Amino acid sequence: MSDAIGIYLHIPFCRQKCRYCDFPSYAGMEAKQEAYVTALTEEIKRYGKELDGQEVHSVFLGGGTPTVLPLPLLERLMAAVFDCFSVSADAEITTEANPGTLDREKVRGLRNMGFHRISMGVQAWQNRHLQKLGRIHTIEEFLENYHALREAGFSNLNVDLMFALPEQTMADWQETLEKITELEPEHISAYSLILEEGTPFYEEWQKGRLPMVSEELDREMYRWAVEFLAKKGYEQYEISNFAKAGYQSRHNRIYWQAEEYLGLGLGAHSYWRGVRFHNTYDLQAYLAKAGKDAVAERETVTPQDALEEFMFLGLRLTEGISFRRFRERFGKEMKGVYGEQIKRLKTEGLLEETERGIRLSGRGIDVSNLVFQEFLLD
Ligand code: SF4
Repeated sequence: MSDAIGIYLHIPFCRQKCRYCDFPSYAGMEAKQEAYVTALTEEIKRYGKELDGQEVHSVFLGGGTPTVLPLPLLERLMAAVFDCFSVSADAEITTEANPGTLDREKVRGLRNMGFHRISMGVQAWQNRHLQKLGRIHTIEEFLENYHALREAGFSNLNVDLMFALPEQTMADWQETLEKITELEPEHISAYSLILEEGTPFYEEWQKGRLPMVSEELDREMYRWAVEFLAKKGYEQYEISNFAKAGYQSRHNRIYWQAEEYLGLGLGAHSYWRGVRFHNTYDLQAYLAKAGKDAVAERETVTPQDALEEFMFLGLRLTEGISFRRFRERFGKEMKGVYGEQIKRLKTEGLLEETERGIRLSGRGIDVSNLVFQEFLLD
């Protein structure tokens, strides 16, 4: 495992709640923002002492919508990050930003406080889809924010997109990808919409009022995106992530390579010193802790868990998993542990083997969750 670590900071505020979203985020809680930043800053200080100079090679501010915070609060947070952690000179420093929460002053401020990568949630090109999703912005507002970021010198932008939206046609999805690639962001994420229990979308769907696209169209949209983005010079490096050469996200790769990261803030998840843990999801409880231990659940990763996670996370990367990395990580051969599974999945055409290692085939990507289950050892 690499010695450097990634830091994730969660900002649980949004201007309004999207209709499909089950992330820990709240709308209408502006009055709590200052207290939250104070608690998070205290947590940063505490972990800064514990890391004791360990190199941080990725900082990711996610949410929620971090950019709903006023500039002075964002500045306080980032000042604490740089004061308390040994952030390496070439670290990837990203914030998520939703269109409609940026203006020229905020964009300049983000640049001045050390961010050089911005991840924008756009989701779709058509305003009727954005409205239905409950997004706060129009595509025109996205464009305004996007150009403001470019003008301020940001040369590493990600755009998050979603497909398989209710009533979305193939032509809608193609238009979204065509228009977005004309802007040439360095990185694109494309996930299909998942209905999460407890969201307004889920309730509408249960009542038969949300016309979802078919499974076949969902897959067709995915395959079209993979081919189209390749033609436009985006390398698919993970099932749902595409990047121009040199712009794969370090933050994302930390998860898929089962490397260590610390998640700070409400409900944030960590994998650190062999333990997976997450903070409380209760905003009041988190604020009451004021930076003291807010962990709600801890789970020691057993050697078996570590093997399984390494496989199903690593297989999300299109490069797959190398035999060498497996050996370095576990001190044994991948085929000594998973020889039978690899043979079977290859015969079924779901896995490919090269001299370097193994990776999912095109068909394997379509049924990736089933493939991952094969690597559970019990
Ligand atoms: S902006 Fe993101 S985090 Fe906030 S409600 Fe929408 S999907 Fe959820």
